[in-house]
Amino acid sequence: MMQRDVTKWIIIFSCCVVFSCSKTTSVRPIYTPPSPITGKTYSADEITAFKQLTLNATNNIVVKLPRQVAIFLADTGYLYMTKEIDSIISQVNRLLDTNLVLTRTADRFASSLQIHLTDRNTYIGIEPSAAPVLQNAEHTGMAYLHWNDQGIVYRGSIFVDMQKTANDTLQQRYLIHHEIMHAMGFLGHVKLPSIYTVLFYFTVTPYILNYTDFDKHIMQLLYNPSVKAGIKEAEFNEVVKNL
Ligand SMILES: [Zn+2]
Repeated sequence: MMQRDVTKWIIIFSCCVVFSCSKTTSVRPIYTPPSPITGKTYSADEITAFKQLTLNATNNIVVKLPRQVAIFLADTGYLYMTKEIDSIISQVNRLLDTNLVLTRTADRFASSLQIHLTDRNTYIGIEPSAAPVLQNAEHTGMAYLHWNDQGIVYRGSIFVDMQKTANDTLQQRYLIHHEIMHAMGFLGHVKLPSIYTVLFYFTVTPYILNYTDFDKHIMQLLYNPSVKAGIKEAEFNEVVKNL
């Protein structure tokens, strides 16, 4: 008998909205904070921030892109954005070597990740499930991912609202960094003020236009072969001690 894929999805916003849907009104047990985990090259703050971006945002599962991902850029009319995306792709490829290989394809059907630089209604036409959220909010971007039980992303889309951010090319360049990083499996936002990142929970200005040292360091952590897709926090804590 065929096993059915249990699909999960999550919507990420480029703005600064924390996942309000995860709040609960039930009485919480008394909480004892665990002792901070540190790695060999990762500080306790870095690991806490990493968890805010990954395990805490995904119901305690490490989510990763597969080793090879073809990206389809649906809107190639903005040359500076095409250039930015290509530059991000080569930067990530250099940083992560064979642990993650991103390519750009002109064939929509050969891609597993699509980038849409358009207006809200056009994007909703392509990703209808995003409608309820996008229609009632001020979001200027989104990353929408689907992953399987093994924590591997098999489909996703990225949206930058070019209409809402018209003429603000710096914001658009920041947004594409932000959304691509979400699409790599960093689904949450960082709430530690000590951390400088494109994924901070509110938009930092001046806009961050390049991945920061922290961003690059945790990309290397998530795509370290020892950090396997699908693992949960207890296993991650054991693994990261040696990294
Ligand atoms: Zn975001």
